[in-house]
Amino acid sequence: KLTERLQGVMESLRGRGRLTDENISDTLRQVRMALLEADVALPVVKTFIESIRGKVVGMEIEKSLTPGQSLVRIIHEELIALMGAGVRPINLRAQPPVVILLAGLQGAGKTTSAGKLAKWLKDTEKKKVLLASTDVYRPAAILQLERLAAQLDVAFYPSDPKKPALTLAREALSEARQSLFDVLIVDTAGRLHVDDEMMSEIREISAAVNPTETLFVVDSMAGQDAVNAARAFGSALTLTGVVLTKTDGDARGGAALSVRQITGQPILFMGTGEKTDALEVFQAERVASRILGMGDVLALVEKVTTTVDREQAEKLARKLKKGKDFDLEDLHDQLAQVERMGGLSSLMDKLPAHLTARAGAMPQGGGEKDIKRQVAIIRSMTPGERRYPKNIDASRKRRIAAGSGVHVSEINKLLKNYLQMQKVMKSMSKGGGLAKMMRAFG
Ligand code: GDP
Ligand code: MG
Repeated sequence: KLTERLQGVMESLRGRGRLTDENISDTLRQVRMALLEADVALPVVKTFIESIRGKVVGMEIEKSLTPGQSLVRIIHEELIALMGAGVRPINLRAQPPVVILLAGLQGAGKTTSAGKLAKWLKDTEKKKVLLASTDVYRPAAILQLERLAAQLDVAFYPSDPKKPALTLAREALSEARQSLFDVLIVDTAGRLHVDDEMMSEIREISAAVNPTETLFVVDSMAGQDAVNAARAFGSALTLTGVVLTKTDGDARGGAALSVRQITGQPILFMGTGEKTDALEVFQAERVASRILGMGDVLALVEKVTTTVDREQAEKLARKLKKGKDFDLEDLHDQLAQVERMGGLSSLMDKLPAHLTARAGAMPQGGGEKDIKRQVAIIRSMTPGERRYPKNIDASRKRRIAAGSGVHVSEINKLLKNYLQMQKVMKSMSKGGGLAKMMRAFG
């Protein structure tokens, strides 16, 4: 895994005051392997490594940072720059109906994305959208889009699977014109592998509907297949953008980097789940962090190391490692630190998404006032209550509320936040997360 490798790299650089030519080369070699393992295409890796080398060589390491940290930061920034290059909003300014054509392999997520995009355009951009399928090989695929459209309350052009795909595309376009739709989304058939028939069909459809956006839909977990498909579709069609799907999966997202470079087109959206609202405008930052596998841990660690008492953080890490529970005493210490770092929500935002997701919703009430209040509440508790929050019953709650001058509901809110925080801490310590993080960046 890229993360583990990079952590290994950082371990080996830890404690050194400067990067030598030798350890830079060694490090870049490891980064190169790691990227290849994350399924980033070879030519892309080469370019990437060279641009990092250019940045690292001769770099003056800032005194406050360890070399490992600086290096990872450079890699992180470079990933963002590469993937974020040319990112722009979807083009809706053309003469209506604006036609959006979706292309990609079977299973990439075209039909799902067609529905998500329709919903997004309807809700966010207030557009009148028509959905049309040209997937005549699989009647079930047409039905899938029809159902989606009905569910989303978006218009659907009833495609007759006995007609050729090209005819359907033409009919849908004239319907979109006649009924004054703002946007027509054309879903297409995909094959499991690139083949000539598919390519010539989609080329014809494209010529017939003259799309404003031709979006290449690609499964972020597809690895080398994604790369080959990107090349094939990129040479058959004038792609204008990419929709990266299934970014909620386990993949490290190496495909994102390859596809951006190979198609030369910006990633406009990313699919983040199976539900119809699981579509987001692409954020390079998010995916870069994902490739590095550590959320915004980098930023977090920077904050932690500059603002927070490291001793205390390490103490907590040790305690969690020993399998001890995160109690209210710890929460108190954390809150006091967080107060100095600009609020709990800003801290939670910096944790890796998969950790906070695993833990459920973010704790609420991260504003400065909230934190002060929570600190006050915990101070009104006895040491026993802090250590065994489970024992805080209704009468104790009333006493604590009176003591800290808040309503009992505030006590409940705090305890709820505490439980969520504890879950996060548990999942972090399970992955070796916090402790490892501290060591890696120390
Ligand atoms: P198509 O063959 O390209 O039209 O692909 P579909 O739209 O039918 O999607 C194939 C499968 O991928 C379906 O089971 C979808 O629910 C699933 N899928 C599509 N996009 C996403 C996504 O962003 N996240 C997840 N988890 N699943 C997705
Ligand atoms: Mg489909």
